[in-house]
Amino acid sequence: MPSNSLASQAKSFRSSLIDWYDANARDLPWRNAPSTYKTVVSEFMLQQTQVKTVLPYFAAWLEKYPDFKTLADASEEEILKSWEGLGYYSRARNLHKLAKEVSAIPAGELPTDAKSWLRFPGVGPYAAAAICSISFSDPSAVVDGNVVRILSRITADESDYKNSTDAAKAYRELVQTLLNPAHPGDHNQAMMELGATVCHKQSPTCLLCPVRVHCQGYTKGIAETLPRLAKTKFEEVTVNRAWIQSPQGILLHKIPANAKRMKGLHELPDLAALSIPVPKTKPHLTRKRGITKYRITERIHTITPQALPSSLPPDHIWAKPSEIPKLPFSGPHRRWITELLST
Ligand code: SF4
Repeated sequence: MPSNSLASQAKSFRSSLIDWYDANARDLPWRNAPSTYKTVVSEFMLQQTQVKTVLPYFAAWLEKYPDFKTLADASEEEILKSWEGLGYYSRARNLHKLAKEVSAIPAGELPTDAKSWLRFPGVGPYAAAAICSISFSDPSAVVDGNVVRILSRITADESDYKNSTDAAKAYRELVQTLLNPAHPGDHNQAMMELGATVCHKQSPTCLLCPVRVHCQGYTKGIAETLPRLAKTKFEEVTVNRAWIQSPQGILLHKIPANAKRMKGLHELPDLAALSIPVPKTKPHLTRKRGITKYRITERIHTITPQALPSSLPPDHIWAKPSEIPKLPFSGPHRRWITELLST
């Protein structure tokens, strides 16, 4: 468990942190002329995704969907297309649903506290606290992997945690105690900024740290070993896919609306779904990727159209190469198709 000696130094911790943030905050587009809409979009995009990846998507998104209403009126296919390559597509669908709900709320009645925002699609405790503290100065502290890393180091907490969600629970109370009640949004952003730019997972730049004087992990020389999280156990998975071209186009699978993940996106079809046995020959393309706890080997085989069953299984379609750019795909499938079309 984290020691609570830091709580007694809350005042000086807050003031060192906020002074540093005022002088060092990165110039990010959602911080310029901030609005609730910009904050919501940035918080959705930044989940599981680095700032440098988000920047071009955020700019294009604001250009195409400048407010909740424009986003609410767009089609899901359009939205998935705009999100293409960012991954974790449920974020895009939830953002779309949230825009519809927010647009339907009469002016002046949008809730401003984190608890009320939990009712919106895709908004968990972290996003609710971030959005409401930044947009409405709601005194809700954010706690995520960055915050856990900083505080476990400052408190030299050598406890073993199952994962960062487990650790986040242990830190919730301390994080709330440390929150700057006068500037909760800036305080939360300062914690995130510190985690992203100074208190790195590997090689934290402690000599530049505004809260080093509070950091017991630094003093004891153990900061980089913290937090102590159990290693993720990865599962190896192999997927065999088909690359089938015919005069009608390229065979694709459109992931149905009742699927758990990636609904509405297109992908290269799975051989098993087409009832085609895995060829013994070397695949045309082999690519590896990771999704959450899965380490996936994707093997893409060239198959002749004659091998297909007499009628296609549901949700499989032919798409002409000229139609491919307009359809939504996940980033990897788009890359593989581009590669396959160029060979
Ligand atoms: S002193 Fe180092 S380890 Fe401690 S909070 Fe600052 S950057 Fe992180």
